[in-house]
Amino acid sequence: MIQNIRGTKDILPETIYLWQYLEDKFKTIADLFGYKEIRTPIFEKTEVFSRTIGENTDIVNKEMYTFKDRDNENITLRPEMTAALVRSVVQHSLDYNIAALRLWYFGPFFRYERPQKGRYRMFHQFGAECIASPYPESDAEVILLANHLIKSLKIDDYTLLLNSLGNSASREKYKSALVDYLNSVKNNLSEESKIRLEANPLRVLDSKDENDIKALENSPAILDYLDQESAEHFNAVRNLLDNAKVNYTIDNRLVRGLDYYNHTVFEFRSNALGAQDSFGGGGRYDGLINQLGGKDTPAVGFAMGVERLLLILEALNAMPIKPNYTDVYLVITSDENLQYAFEIANTLRSRGIRVSTEIKRRKMKGQFKEADKLEAAYTIVIGDTEFKERKVTIKNMASGEQKLIQYEELNEFQFQLQ
Ligand code: AMP
Repeated sequence: MIQNIRGTKDILPETIYLWQYLEDKFKTIADLFGYKEIRTPIFEKTEVFSRTIGENTDIVNKEMYTFKDRDNENITLRPEMTAALVRSVVQHSLDYNIAALRLWYFGPFFRYERPQKGRYRMFHQFGAECIASPYPESDAEVILLANHLIKSLKIDDYTLLLNSLGNSASREKYKSALVDYLNSVKNNLSEESKIRLEANPLRVLDSKDENDIKALENSPAILDYLDQESAEHFNAVRNLLDNAKVNYTIDNRLVRGLDYYNHTVFEFRSNALGAQDSFGGGGRYDGLINQLGGKDTPAVGFAMGVERLLLILEALNAMPIKPNYTDVYLVITSDENLQYAFEIANTLRSRGIRVSTEIKRRKMKGQFKEADKLEAAYTIVIGDTEFKERKVTIKNMASGEQKLIQYEELNEFQFQLQ
């Protein structure tokens, strides 16, 4: 038997309603905020990601699914959306210079990570990007959008962490203070952090290693290094969130792995998850559009992991109720009645009533069992009498009430459906 690839999951019909529930929420909430959906290919030229995410990040170094296609082109299955989305925005000259461009997406992403609970090699993200505003209200807007979604899913056990990486001048100043500090505690750092110290020192702050965390206890705080412009931007974001009564915690160590962030960064974490407790995050990326060949254009956005949202819903018992898919099960008692049964099914379907008919030619008992299994609200039985007299027997499965009506009356029959 051929199995699926490690780190991927089949979403089976039994649980698809959960995904449909979430997808519906994504669209509704994005609509509320005036965001339009964008869909781009799931693979891109490798440089879209390698040039932007950063050569010294885990994603680019270890996690990308990259291969050469038959034309010897370097192709990568997208590990995240922002760079791919910006590629598309620049390529199609979407009008981000006239009005703000508000976009949302949902789809699969691919990272070669060690699979564990909440971490897969193919996973899904919902996200939103607000392009062309340098102002703190756009940072606040995307955070509010994410927060609104979380609340609408009735998730209450979560924390929003907030930090600022400042503008590039502030960050450079901070980086040099951090490098000095890290060098002074270098002997206590993990091997990985020693490498990061050389290649990408801010990423040492991301380490989950216990020794690193201890060594970082007295590290300088980035917020102390923000210049006036950066501090004002951050304070304005905070004020907008405070006014909107969004709870957040300032986390000086939050840098987020990717190279393209500046100013505001944020992350959502939940205790309902295990070790992989982050279920979404984002930040401002003012340099990325220019880096991908577009005009210098500021932007901010976030991505949320859909599998992790589902894990949280499960842990918090906040799952939606499983829907019923069948209004009427059509029981057919003999082959002779088949044409008539199909006629009835079509009449009902054209009224928008969801009908399943028997196609395995089982005995009546088996068919009624099936109707029970499907939780059909009604069964319609087509026996010889019904067929000969062009009548229909309708049974309400909840009350047991049964009615024999003329086929012509079917169009007016009042079905009690939820
Ligand atoms: P990132 O782009 O790394 O900030 O990821 C954003 C969100 O996507 C995370 O908070 C997770 O919820 C989700 N995510 C990232 N990587 C994975 C993965 N390998 N498996 C499942 N979800 C993931």
